[in-house]
Amino acid sequence: MEKHSFQAETQKLLDLMIHSLYANKEVFLRELISNASDALDRRRFEALSNPELQTEDELGIRLVADRTTRILEVSDNGIGMNREDLVEHLGTIARSGTLEFLNRADQAEGGEANPDLIGQFGVGFYASFMVADEVEVISRRAGEDKATRWVSQGTGEYALDDAERDHAGTTIRLKLKPVDEEAGIQDFCDEWVLRRIVKKYSDFVRYPIRLTVIEEAAASSEAEAGEAEASNKDEAGKAEAGPVRREIEEPLNSMKAIWTRPESEVSEEEFNEFYRHITHDFHDPVLRISTSIEGTFEARALLYVPSKAPFDLYHRERLHNGVQLYVRRVFIMDECRELLPEWLRFVRGVVDAEDLSLNVSREMLQQDRQIRTIRKHLVKKITERLKALAEEDPSKYESFWAEFGPVVKEGLLDFQEKRERILDLVLAPSTADEGKLTSLAAYKERMPEDQKAIYYIAGPKLDVLKRSPHLEAFREKGIEVLFLTDPVDEVWVSQGPIAYQDLPFKSIGHGEVELGSEEEQEKAKEALAREEENLGDLLKAIRAAIQDEVKEVRLSARLTDSASCLVLEEGDLSPQLEAMLRQAGQSIPERKPILELNPEHPIMKALEKRFEENPTDPKISESAKLLLGQAILAEGGQLDDPSAFAELVNKLMTETL
Ligand code: ADP
Repeated sequence: MEKHSFQAETQKLLDLMIHSLYANKEVFLRELISNASDALDRRRFEALSNPELQTEDELGIRLVADRTTRILEVSDNGIGMNREDLVEHLGTIARSGTLEFLNRADQAEGGEANPDLIGQFGVGFYASFMVADEVEVISRRAGEDKATRWVSQGTGEYALDDAERDHAGTTIRLKLKPVDEEAGIQDFCDEWVLRRIVKKYSDFVRYPIRLTVIEEAAASSEAEAGEAEASNKDEAGKAEAGPVRREIEEPLNSMKAIWTRPESEVSEEEFNEFYRHITHDFHDPVLRISTSIEGTFEARALLYVPSKAPFDLYHRERLHNGVQLYVRRVFIMDECRELLPEWLRFVRGVVDAEDLSLNVSREMLQQDRQIRTIRKHLVKKITERLKALAEEDPSKYESFWAEFGPVVKEGLLDFQEKRERILDLVLAPSTADEGKLTSLAAYKERMPEDQKAIYYIAGPKLDVLKRSPHLEAFREKGIEVLFLTDPVDEVWVSQGPIAYQDLPFKSIGHGEVELGSEEEQEKAKEALAREEENLGDLLKAIRAAIQDEVKEVRLSARLTDSASCLVLEEGDLSPQLEAMLRQAGQSIPERKPILELNPEHPIMKALEKRFEENPTDPKISESAKLLLGQAILAEGGQLDDPSAFAELVNKLMTETL
């Protein structure tokens, strides 16, 4: 016998389980059955390429409830584990969801984990320690001869030992704690308790879950023969008979693929339970989509939109992703990425196709016409349902958008997608009602008739954007501007031509502003031109002082209160996007912004006066630098030389104080 210590995290988890106050302890069975079902899937899948792993026996799960010893076994003839697997899978925690659970438990007040956390996360195998004082695992990896026993009381160590097992697979033996209904420990050896739990959580598991009950012979004959006769037997006779095995023929679960049952016959609770089974996510989904494709070929899908983003949504190597593929009710593969585009990677569920081959491989899927058609149908369906949700339950939709909006917007980068459909889903904060998100449709409705574009300002910080000087003229004229704050926004808006119902997206920080009717625009332009002429030499002097940093200095039509702001040329990349691309290793040519000045601002008036008196007054160049510096700071940018700027400010303060 070999002793091993648990990895520290595992021990922490075990302690939480052992001392758990979580009332709903029956979920341990769901977790064990779910693991068994996964192991059976794996065996089936690996057997496709390795016929040695095939078995004549029916693949399934068996519960053996020994009422005389209070030992409950959960066995499967799935893939099994060898010694190394046992050490790795049951001695350490690799599963990210479980690690996240631990983090959350750590953060909990006073170190006491909220019992409900267990229910929300479903902590897998270790949940057995909520109901058992000792857990033994006897497992034999399919294709190998040796079996191994793993045993632990959950305290610090586990032991490994050689064991005997006729067939490949895994048996989990639980030495159950005494029944204590108040603490959630039911009689887990009772046939009816087990039947109920299996029905509740695991009815749709696609392998039969069978039950054997071991009980005192007397108990069963008593049940059969009736009390009168039983009472005639003497006590010794009972003991001699010893325990008997009673096998219940019918599986406890119906194994019915939930997506083939009429929707009206399945309760929302059952649908949610199925979601939990396939995702291990313990929050209810935001949306469930049942849909079928009919025509030259047929398929059904049962999809879910989770309510919370998985922590690895943006990782390249995601653990759990996408939907499962079935062919005629037979499970083919997990995570079939071909069925949905990347920007819908958070959608989970099942697709069951009628006409694919059972031997379909991933390579074949990529080219398969049916898969492409299914994918198109699903995208359409999902976007329609999301749009409907936005209308029916805006606050639910907003919470969805907060979790997955940035991912959905990745779809706008794909020219093959129907981008209008995705734009229909977009929400963004705007100047219209600053606490609220708006859809593009609502923006369009509020827009004056002669407005020809959807205006936006992009940057990483909403607060900075809200105070941006670029907004001044727009606010004054009551023209709504969207605030786009996700990194992906900068990419799709600059990837033009992108338009929402023929309205192009226009950055208020790029190019010239053209607000109001054509007539008004004309007038404004003329006025500016006149001012430029008047101030031409002053502008030149300002430019000379900062020529290394700006491309041009000009008068602004977009400022009302501020003295200066920076703008980019139409088509220029924004500073954030530049930084992103540089980080991604792309070489981006240096680009200088344009400094716009507000001719109506008192500073400009004062500069004008000074310039008239003495065109070489050093105050002019100092002011130029200050105007540039504040424009950079106002958009949340970084100064090239902050200490030089501070010196200028200090000088100014000393002069005025
Ligand atoms: P999860 O199942 O979510 O990965 P668990 O803690 O429940 O987390 O299980 C850890 C790992 O142990 C599983 O990923 C699997 O590799 C292995 N395992 C658990 N139960 C079985 C089983 N019945 N057969 C084979 N492997 C199993």
